[in-house]
Amino acid sequence: MTGTEGIQYNDAEEGRRFRPLGERMFCMNGNGLSAEQKERYSRQIRMPEIGEAGQAKLLASKVLIIGAGGLGSPAALYLAAAGVGTVGIADGDRVELSNLQRQILHGSSDIGRAKAASAADAMQRLDPELYAVSYELTADEENLPDLLAEYDFVLDCTDRHETKLLISDACVRAGKPLCTGSVAGFYGQVMTRVPGDGPCYRCIFGNAPAGPALDAKENGVLGAAAGIIGCIMAAEAVKYLTGAGELLTGSLLTCDLSEMRFEKIPMKRDRNCPACGKTNTEAEE
Ligand SMILES: [Zn+2]
Repeated sequence: MTGTEGIQYNDAEEGRRFRPLGERMFCMNGNGLSAEQKERYSRQIRMPEIGEAGQAKLLASKVLIIGAGGLGSPAALYLAAAGVGTVGIADGDRVELSNLQRQILHGSSDIGRAKAASAADAMQRLDPELYAVSYELTADEENLPDLLAEYDFVLDCTDRHETKLLISDACVRAGKPLCTGSVAGFYGQVMTRVPGDGPCYRCIFGNAPAGPALDAKENGVLGAAAGIIGCIMAAEAVKYLTGAGELLTGSLLTCDLSEMRFEKIPMKRDRNCPACGKTNTEAEE
């Protein structure tokens, strides 16, 4: 494991145990923000829903992004820019030429590099005070509990339905809030679940067939559609961490950019859901 002070790289050969994130101080001058932080985040601090207190919360927060592709790219850049103190990013793939049309974390010179490391570098370039943590791996049942353990909020930016179910189940078990996004063609969808509030991904999509959550390979994907859904996911993380606004819990937001149609569809929890239903023993509610 190597890296500059602000980056921790966890590669596949390191095995299943990750180096602990540790306690890092992002707010200098006691609990207050530094002059540089006040200036960097001034437009955000000016928002009454966030303010200096909200900014301090963001700086002390840890967000995990699973997937450094079309959704993970805008999400990671906006969270890094917003001053989330620690951003972890997990992806087992390498950057390919065909990714660059929408995966804006990576540039032409990153082709062939591990996406997770390229993503961490891009976030660090944006804000050198940020602690970027890269995990060069594909999330699976075995590594997810360890991966989630230290984070306050999780973004599922993966594209396969079965991976999304694994991530959702692991977050329910670990009591972690999760925002899940999917995109294909002009179409995107996103939902959030926090422990004890609203349906989980399995409640809604538990019976969907294995394969891509939305068929991006078959139908292609508009880069801007991934950008919109990824940005919504970043907004959900910022809202959760600062307590601002209302989250997308208990509903699925869908958008169809071909007609510019956005819909917020109410969704109910499945009481018999094998993940979050009443037969489950998770410590919530
Ligand atoms: Zn459920």
